[in-house]
Amino acid sequence: MTDIEQLITSNPLLTDIRNSEEIFWNNSMYLPVEEATKQTKYSMADIEDAEARLQRFAAFIRVAFPETEATDGIIESPVSEISDMKNYLNDTLATTLDGKLLLKRDDLLPISGTIKARGAIYEVLKHAENLALQKGMLESTEEDYAVFASEAFNEFFSSYHIAVGTTGNLGISVGTMARKLGFNVTVHMSVEAKQWKKDYLRDKGVEVIEHDTDFSKAVENGRAESDANPNSYFVDDEHSVELFLGYTVGGYRMKKQLEREGITVDADHPLFVYLPCGIGGSPGGITFGLKQAFGEHVHCFFAEPTKMPSMLVGLLTEKYDDVSVFDFQLGGLTIADGLAVPRTSGLVAKLMRTFFSGGYSVQEGVFNGLLSSLYDTESIFLEPAAVAGLVGPYRLMKTDNGKGYIESSGLSDKMDQATHIAWATGGSMVPEKDRAAFLEESKAYSIN
Ligand SMILES: *Cc1c(COP(=O)(O)O)cnc(C)c1O
Repeated sequence: MTDIEQLITSNPLLTDIRNSEEIFWNNSMYLPVEEATKQTKYSMADIEDAEARLQRFAAFIRVAFPETEATDGIIESPVSEISDMKNYLNDTLATTLDGKLLLKRDDLLPISGTIKARGAIYEVLKHAENLALQKGMLESTEEDYAVFASEAFNEFFSSYHIAVGTTGNLGISVGTMARKLGFNVTVHMSVEAKQWKKDYLRDKGVEVIEHDTDFSKAVENGRAESDANPNSYFVDDEHSVELFLGYTVGGYRMKKQLEREGITVDADHPLFVYLPCGIGGSPGGITFGLKQAFGEHVHCFFAEPTKMPSMLVGLLTEKYDDVSVFDFQLGGLTIADGLAVPRTSGLVAKLMRTFFSGGYSVQEGVFNGLLSSLYDTESIFLEPAAVAGLVGPYRLMKTDNGKGYIESSGLSDKMDQATHIAWATGGSMVPEKDRAAFLEESKAYSIN
């Protein structure tokens, strides 16, 4: 037996994962946030630095993307209560959720309509700022960044290249922002990537290269090609600190947003957040920001398809990116294309192993059932990846491990004052035809 096979046989949760069963996992590596933060290279100062950069670029974004005028060039999304969906879930899963159920609407983020608008756009902006400062286009960060929308800057960036490997959405965010600045852009796509995403990017003048391989291979090919060109910058989903830091801002901003919504988060009012997880950058970064904002009062769980539980296998085996879902004979196409990542980011998995409260996995039919029931109850269409958070509160309340988490965290008598947030990670850009196809396909499924 290989040592991975041995681990699978000796750990019941790993056996369940191998058998494609849904699991709910409590993270035994979890540490109180102060201790956990001390063990990382990153802190509040990094979040503040990233937020300040996004504020500087707001003047440019406002001009370049008029849809952001209402928010003064800040890329943000609302959070809203979904009571009808909650009632539906209560009935269908025969469990009463006592606290509030909210949806964080990153599907409505301007510019790219997915959570990638946080990390990916941040990374492109940071690279653009670095180049402009290095080459003397910008004298200091005190200048008015509206100049990034000028003809001169566009021409300057047109002698540089940005490349990325992606299941689709990362390419949309990187491609849209980088083309707007004037960069040449190449997007390497994996087989999961949807046709409309390729068409959309080509329409924007992005070179799209299709690889007949999975996500990890598409990234590898993209990286190799980009590295061969000294004027090319590669947005590296597997190792990118900038992506991670861009996401942290989204988590930290929840502090003010929930205050504005009149939602209290403290020892008596716990906050639970459920985040769809692909390679780990977005759930990792958002969790880091949330933990800095709310400390021990926020409990963050990531959610993955049973076909692609890359973060779960990385953390449960403690092998991080040295293990992939293929070692579990898993993989294959999942309806949740945004989460179709066979191997987690080593950077994020190692960094975040002490911050996540846990994670869970979701079967294909459940993605379908959540997608159609959210549409029926709330008239909200999300792309399949984005619905994974919605069952989180019920898994927490219904599974033995979930119940164990509530009890051991001393929260049993506080659950009626809890707030649960399912992070909706994308959907508003999916074309009408594709929506109709998803909804038609999903009708036949139920979540239980
Ligand atoms: C990318 C993506 C995720 C997951 O983000 P990772 O950083 O890959 O973990 C979730 N939902 C959607 C819609 C995405 O595009």
